[in-house]
Order: sequence, then structure tokens, then C-alpha cells
Amino acid sequence: MLELLLIIVAMAGLVWVMRREAGALPALGVLAVLGLIGVVFGAVTVGILLWLGAAAVAACGLPTLRRRWLTPRLFAAFDKAAPKVSETERTALEAGSVAWDGELFSGRPQWQRLLDFRNAGLSEEERAFVDHQCSVAAGMCNAWEIARERADLPPELWEYLKREGFFGMIIPKRYGGLEFSAKAQSAVLQKLAVNETLMVTVGVPNSLGPGELLLKYGTEEQKNHYLPRLADGREIPCFGLTGPRAGSDATSLPDVGIVCRGQHNGQEVLGLKLTFEKRWITLAPIATVVGLAFRMFDPDGLLGDTSDLGITCALIPRDTPGMDIGRRHHPIGSPFMNGPIRGKDVFIPLEWIIGGPDMAGQGWRMLVECLSVGRCITLPSGASGIGRYAVGWAGGFTRIRRQFNLPVADMEGVQEPLARIAAHAYIAQAAVMQTANTIDHGVKPAVPSAILKSQLTEFQRSMLADAMDVHGGRTVTLGPRNYLGIAYSANPVSITVEGANIMTRNLMIFGQGAIRCHPYVLDELAAKDDNDLVAFDKAIFGHAGMVFGNAARAFTQGLGIGKSRVPFDEVAAPYAQEVSRLASAFGLCADAAMASLGSGLKKREMLSARLGDVLSNLYLASMLIKQWHESESVEHEAALMHYSCRTLLYRAEQAFTELFDNLPNRALAMTLSAVALPLGRRWHKPQDRFTRDIARAISTDSALRHKLTADTWNTQEAGQRDNPLARYNVLLADSERAEPLYRRIAKAYSQGELPAEALHPEQRVEAAWEAGLIEEDDAIFMRRFEREVLDMLSVDDFAFDAFATDKDRVVWHTT
Ligand SMILES: Cc1cc2nc3c(=O)[nH]c(=O)nc-3n(C[C@H](O)[C@H](O)[C@H](O)COP(=O)(O)OP(=O)(O)OC[C@H]3O[C@@H](n4cnc5c(N)ncnc54)[C@H](O)[C@@H]3O)c2cc1C
Repeated sequence: MLELLLIIVAMAGLVWVMRREAGALPALGVLAVLGLIGVVFGAVTVGILLWLGAAAVAACGLPTLRRRWLTPRLFAAFDKAAPKVSETERTALEAGSVAWDGELFSGRPQWQRLLDFRNAGLSEEERAFVDHQCSVAAGMCNAWEIARERADLPPELWEYLKREGFFGMIIPKRYGGLEFSAKAQSAVLQKLAVNETLMVTVGVPNSLGPGELLLKYGTEEQKNHYLPRLADGREIPCFGLTGPRAGSDATSLPDVGIVCRGQHNGQEVLGLKLTFEKRWITLAPIATVVGLAFRMFDPDGLLGDTSDLGITCALIPRDTPGMDIGRRHHPIGSPFMNGPIRGKDVFIPLEWIIGGPDMAGQGWRMLVECLSVGRCITLPSGASGIGRYAVGWAGGFTRIRRQFNLPVADMEGVQEPLARIAAHAYIAQAAVMQTANTIDHGVKPAVPSAILKSQLTEFQRSMLADAMDVHGGRTVTLGPRNYLGIAYSANPVSITVEGANIMTRNLMIFGQGAIRCHPYVLDELAAKDDNDLVAFDKAIFGHAGMVFGNAARAFTQGLGIGKSRVPFDEVAAPYAQEVSRLASAFGLCADAAMASLGSGLKKREMLSARLGDVLSNLYLASMLIKQWHESESVEHEAALMHYSCRTLLYRAEQAFTELFDNLPNRALAMTLSAVALPLGRRWHKPQDRFTRDIARAISTDSALRHKLTADTWNTQEAGQRDNPLARYNVLLADSERAEPLYRRIAKAYSQGELPAEALHPEQRVEAAWEAGLIEEDDAIFMRRFEREVLDMLSVDDFAFDAFATDKDRVVWHTT
């Protein structure tokens, strides 16, 4: 009996020590004391076994002992197995900073650290800009006119954007810019997402490009010259990295700059002769200044001994002789300015290198260092903004569109996509605003930027497809009345640019995160490179403690024992505890995958993607939990919170099971599965009751609908373009009164109390009034309401030859 008790207490004690990553000493203490009890009280065999265990722990766990025999052996093995990190990868790894992503990677996220990123919201100036300037800009847009009639934004809108400083949101005030916080930039772009061309046009100059590169690396002269001119739109920038041969693998660019002497402003100076071919460059057709990435060579040694200086970035005015610029590509769906740039033997002085000649060869580092912030803001904000409008439009349309005598919003088949749109929008808003908030606290989120870019643009794809589906033919038919179809067709742009999603998901999130965010791997690699045994010992045994800790936490919490303490209310706390549990499981599986596959993991992209999916879903859930914690919730929001968290946790567990199904080492896979999910999967897709609740809320004049569509263009001012969202909002407010009238009239019609030929709703209203079934003011109300509904349901039609650009080749068929 005592033997059994000692074994149980020893195991519980060791698990307790492991869960806390308390180190070898407490473990040693537990085993030694229990061993002593065993020997003294007659359980001698177990007592001795426990002492042997204590001796093993001491030999392997106490630094002074293990450094004599174990650490050198581990060091040698690590030296052989550790993946070689290329210079390019090292640059990417060193870029940006680690925050909540690192907490998740540790497997023991400290929620207070996330809450410490306090969110002060927008400043008064930023709030006023979002409320006023963004509404004015949005109110100048009609998607059809921009996409099909002009293939451009209207000139008065360009003028307004320049005048109001939209292109200088990231530029400090001392250079004439708006110097907005990351949150404000995001809020602006979310509001402008009402039109994708507008969003991209404003987003790009405020993202990775000349403005940001100059701010960070430019010489004083370059800053003083360009930044004020970029801020007020006198200069329109573009940045050319991609070419026909170098897409995702941007460092393979074949564009060259050869150091040579040449003429500049009538003088012979040292400079570069550039030959390049770039394509798909946003804003290029109208850009006045081109940021260009190229490989710099100094074959004649004019600058020194190095011949291949590496990737370099320069700023080149459009009118530089030899620049071939101005032609346009036609991005799918959206006519934002995009085109090729070519140049042969274009001579520029060395001073045009961003940061001056000293920054020759530093281009790749500059780009990856800047990428994290812009990639976190621009496209994710576009996705979140589209989500806000999708909620507003889809909820509005499905309430006023009646089929089978019911609003289609009340049909369960429609409620499913409606709830999905709402959840995607809700998660996207939380993720983008909370991550922007960390940027405002000085974080440069490298891994979250890849998560947000790929996950949120995939949400965007899903939201747009769902919104199209619930609109039926209403948004399939293009024309000035269609507010959705063009955004839908332009969606692949977001999927592809700033790191195409397939590559980002498969290669970057985990591939970069595994080393970048891991609490120990970078230190281990550095210790290996420095041949520093003590540093290696510290890192590798810290790492070992983390592995045991993650295994113990994942397993016990998977059994429901010792849930982590979290500082949240009863709605969010269970989800936060599950994020913590799955983070431990993730940490364990990430280490196991790295250890078992070594450098081969890089090639096993499908495995790497699933690990990335776990991390992504846990990251998004964490942002949601923080957002919930910080904001006042409204009626029905709890249903949306449950739905969203369950969806994310379901997806995380799904990724785990797919990982276990496919890990090549089957024994390892089964062990991991047993430790990480000891009772199997816990999370299923959200229940239908949440779906119904959410769908109803977003298709009625509810507080939840208003919250989800906050900071959109939702007003209709005189002189503005038609605003369908504002009109839906009015209709939804009125539909509370209309619905009982509809029901009364429909019942009367079905009971034969109204003439059978009253087939149109308008005719039935008249008939019901004449029959005394409804009051006169109800009839007046319903006439107006029906008129508005019919107008919102209407689509455009065109002359027979309207779509042919070559009218001479139109065949009229009937003549
Ligand atoms: C409308 C538009 C605007 C753009 N604006 C700019 C701009 O302003 N400046 C600029 O420099 N560039 C710009 N680009 C280029 C853009 O950044 C690239 O399109 C993008 O990097 C992907 O390159 P690619 O299209 O050549 O795809 P490819 O590299 O040919 O990739 C094809 C597919 O393979 C996948 N893939 C590639 N490598 C891997 C991998 N290792 N693992 C898994 N999957 C992989 C990709 O995800 C993609 O799905 C723009 C592109 C478009 C379409």
C-alpha cells in the first residue's frame, strides 16, 4: 500500500514540478524525500528506486554535473542536426519583434502581458478624421463608375485625398504628415474598404514603400525633400520589387545596378547604371517617384573590394532618362493603378540610394524590417473593413428580401452564412485593432503580420463569397447599384500580394515563428555559432524544461486537471483556459516536429502549415478574448463570442489531428496525440442556437449590428453617392413596424379576405387598407417602405451594345 502511495505521490510531485518548469532541484527534492520515507517506513525497494531516480535527475539536471558529461555530447549532436540558417533567413528572423506570439510559443501564455498592452483608443484628431474625412472620401465613390466607367478614382477624390493628407498617415507632423497611430491608420482603411480601389490607393503609400523606408533609413536630405511632398500628395510613390522572374522568391531578383561614373546635372559623378524589369507595381502608372530594389555590383572596385554588394533600394524620379513607366496592368475586378516599370542603363547618382551610399547592399534587411508593420495593417484592415460592410449589406438585404412570405434572413439556410460572416468580421476586427494596438506600444509583430495577412484575407474571401450567396442575383448583376460584386471579383488581389497566402501559411507562419518566437531556439543557434557551451547548456536545458512542462500541462489540462488561472469573466475565461491548454500542446508538438524532422521540416510544408494553423487560431482567439475583456458587450454579443471562439478552437484542434494523422514518425504521432488530446477533441463547430441568434441580430436594427458596422460609411449626406448601408439601416429600423403588417396582410390574403389578383405587395397594402385591415398611417408607411424595398432590390440593365468596347464588332442578332 505504502509503495503504491509513494509512486502516486512521486508522479504527482514530478508533474507539479514539470508544470511549473521549476527545474531539477525541486524534482530532486521530491524524489529524495519520498525515497527516504520509503526506506524508513519499510518500502525499501521503492525507496531505493526513488533515490536512483533522484540520482539520475541530479546527473542530468544539475548544471555543474551535467556540463561535465551531457552538455558536450548534446552540443555535438545539435551541431550536426541544427538547420543551416541562410543569410536571407537570418535577416528575416532578426526582423521585427516578439510579443504575444512568443507567449503562445512558450506554451505558458501569461495573459496579463497581453492585457498590459492597454488600448487608449483613437485621439480626438484621429476620431474626427475617421468620422469626417473618411466619410467624405467614401461618399465620392461608386464602385461601378470607378471600375468600369473611369478605370480610376474620380479626380475630385484624388484631390481630396491629397489635400487632406490621406497619403501621409505614417509621416510625422514635422514633415507635414498626419502621424497617425497604427490603430487610426487601420480605422481609416477599414472605413475606406467600402471601395477596394480607394482602400488600396490609400493603403499602399502608407504601407511598405518609399515613405516608410525613408522614415527609417533615409538621409536627412532625402527626408526633408521627399517626406513633405509625399505627405501632401505632390509626390506619388510606388515600390518595385517584383519582376517576371522574381515573385515570392523576391531575393532572386535579376535587376542590376552597376557602379560606374556618369553624368548627373552636368557633372561627372559616381553612380549606378540600372537595368531592370518590374511588373505589377501598384501606383506605378501615376507614380512620380519610384522605389526600386535591385542587386548592386561594383565590378571595377570603384567603391572598395566587394564586387557583389547585394540587394539595394533607391528612389528614382519618374522623369529620369531611360525609365519606361506609365503602362497599366488590369488587376482582376479593381482598376487601382498598377503597371510595369522597365529601364535599361538608367544612370542614377549614388546619393539616390535610400539612406545614401552607406546603405548599399542593405536593401533586403530594410525591406523585411519594414514589412512587419505595414503587412499587419493594410490588407488585414481592408479585410476587416470589408467584413463590416458585408455584415451591414448582407444583414440588410436578407431582412428586406422576402421569399415564401418570409424574410430570407429567417431561413436557417441563410442564417448559416450570415452568422459566419458576422464571426469572421468580429474576429478580424479584434485581431486587426488589437495587433495595431501592440504596434502603438512599439511592437513590430513579424509573425502576427503573416498570421493576420493570410488568415484575415482568407476570412475576406469567405465573407465576400457568403455575402454574394445570400444576395442571390442581386449582386451577381453588375452595374452602379451593385455594391458588392466588384469587391468580390477583386478579392484575389489581397490573397496574392504582400506574400501570397499559400506561401505565407505553409512556409512563413510556423517556419519563421518556430525559430523567431521560440524562447530557446535562437539562443541555441547563437550558442552553437559562438561555440559557447555554457550558453548552450542554459538554452538547451531551459528548452528541455519547457518540453516537459508543456507535456505535463497539456496532458493534465487535457484531462481537466489544474486549469490555468486567467483574468477574464465567465464568458471569456473558459476559452482563455483552452487557449492556454492548446498553447502547451502546440509548444510540445512544435518541439517534437522540429526534433523529429530537423531541417526536413522546411520541406514538409503541409505539416508546417498545420502547426501554423494552430498558432494562427490561438493568436486570433487571444485577440478576441482581449477585445471582449476591454469593451462593453452588447445584447447577443455573447452568442457571437461563443460562436467565434468555438470556431477558432475547433479549427486549432482540427489542425492538431491532421498533424497527428500525417507525422511520418507514427509512434511519435500517437504519443503526441495521447498527451495533447488525451480525451480526444473537445471542440466542435458552434451550435445552431448561436447561429440563429447572431443571424437575427445582424439582420435587425440591433446593438450588435451597430457594433459590428461601427466606423463604416453609414450616413447619407447631400451630394454624396448613394449609400446602400445607410438605406438598409433605415429599412431595418422600419422593418420592426413593417413585419407585423406583412404578416397581417399575408394572413388576410391566404384566407381570401383580399382580392386574389392582388399579387404585388403594393396591391395588397392598398387592398388591406381598403378592407379596413390596416390603418391609414400604416398604409402610408407601407407604401413608402415597399417603394424603398423595391428600389433596393432593383438591379441595372444596359443598352444591348453597352459592354462591347469595339462597337463595330457588335452583332445585333435580331436585325
Ligand atoms: C495587383 C498586384 C499588385 C502588386 N503590387 C506590387 C507592388 O506594388 N510592388 C511589388 O514589388 N510587387 C507587387 N506585386 C507582386 C506581389 O507581391 C507578388 O504577386 C507576390 O509576391 C507573389 O508572387 P507571384 O505572383 O509571382 O507568385 P509566385 O511566386 O509565382 O507563386 C505562385 C504560387 O506559388 C506559391 N508559392 C511560391 N513559393 C512558395 C513556397 N515556397 N511554398 C509554398 N507556396 C509557394 C505562392 O503562394 C503562389 O500561390 C503585386 C501583385 C499584384 C497581383
